[in-house]
Amino acid sequence: MNRPLVLKFGGTSVGSGAAFLRAASIAAEAAQHRPVTVVVSAMAGTTDALLGLARTTAGPAREGSLAKLRRTLSERHSHAAREAVPGMLLPEVEMRLHALIGRLAEVVNSPVEDPAARRDAVGSFGERLSAEILAGAIAGSGAPAAVSPGDPIATDGRFGDARVLAGETRRRAEKYVRPLLDEGMVAVTPGYFGRGPDGAVTTLGRGGSDLSATVLGCALGAEEVWILSDVDGVLDADPRLIPEAALIPHLSYREAGQFAALGAEILHPKTTAPASEAGIKVRVASTFNPGSPGTRISDREGGPGVRSVALRRGLSLTHVPPDAAGNVFCVLGTDAEGLKVLVDGTGVAAVVCVGAPTDGDLLSGLRCLGEANIRPLFAGNTSTGLLFAVAEGKAEGALRVLHAALIPAGAPAEMEEVA
Ligand code: ASP
Ligand code: MG
Repeated sequence: MNRPLVLKFGGTSVGSGAAFLRAASIAAEAAQHRPVTVVVSAMAGTTDALLGLARTTAGPAREGSLAKLRRTLSERHSHAAREAVPGMLLPEVEMRLHALIGRLAEVVNSPVEDPAARRDAVGSFGERLSAEILAGAIAGSGAPAAVSPGDPIATDGRFGDARVLAGETRRRAEKYVRPLLDEGMVAVTPGYFGRGPDGAVTTLGRGGSDLSATVLGCALGAEEVWILSDVDGVLDADPRLIPEAALIPHLSYREAGQFAALGAEILHPKTTAPASEAGIKVRVASTFNPGSPGTRISDREGGPGVRSVALRRGLSLTHVPPDAAGNVFCVLGTDAEGLKVLVDGTGVAAVVCVGAPTDGDLLSGLRCLGEANIRPLFAGNTSTGLLFAVAEGKAEGALRVLHAALIPAGAPAEMEEVA
């Protein structure tokens, strides 16, 4: 049998009935060629609302918020279901949505000793709801589909930021997901959460559905994982700061992991680790622009050069004794005064160059900053890679200059791959 494909749809990719339909048709189309597992996020905004409710304390105020949230969740999800799920399948999906919202109310009201445990249990309902609609929509698009009957991801007991247990996850995936694939169905799994050692719901941290997808891909021996959202792929800078930021056709696991860890919002920072261990290719692409190839992530290193630039603000430059550092962002090196570091603080911003920067990149970065009258407070290779530190007020200017200087526009390889 073909190795499965894992498709992960983000919150905006299931943000409305029309979006569910689009996601469903991508999944149904893919399922014609190979076994498909779908990992889905909550409808955009839902997790925020659920976690907001979980924070309120018991009493009349919470009863009021719960009643209001039940109403909005039920209206929003029923509305999307009516648009995305064909009439024949709709009653079953609506019944399941209704049952889930009932269970949510029970969880909110149940007495628990640990508020963090309740928070995670409440937070998981957004994904549970969207999974039911998406399974109905995929079935309506012509590919038999079902929500996995149990939660496949096994974790430790750290609520809010649980670590995945790979061996146990494999066993759970064989039990809850594989049988659906063997029957020729698309298996739909809610992302973002798993089960701790005692069976309690645990979440993987905000944005954790990306990680759910690669973890599940790993457990099922998937060939590829596609992360589908509302952006065309990984861009070589934040497009809110650099309007001419361009799509990066290919990144290595190392580069993607480094870029994500710097706060590029496109991927949960832990996403690439399981994929890299198992050699699973990751494709980051848009649900709304399926023609675009997106960004491919694999073990192939792209050769020398800067692939992307990331800006990190809110730092200060200081010296510390080598082992006294708690909130160190980056070690710059040692000088006469000791270990020079960037720590969380104010006044300094850093532009970090991701990829395989060369000495030539350092020199041309320095030259171009000089021409723009931006004096770097530090420039050189550091524990996080090639880094230029500047006064916070110069942050965006420095980012623009370094993006233009170090990333060739429309590099030939890029053109070829898109064509
Ligand atoms: N719905 C969760 C969140 O908003 C997980 C995710 O979207 O990946 O954080
Ligand atoms: Mg989300």
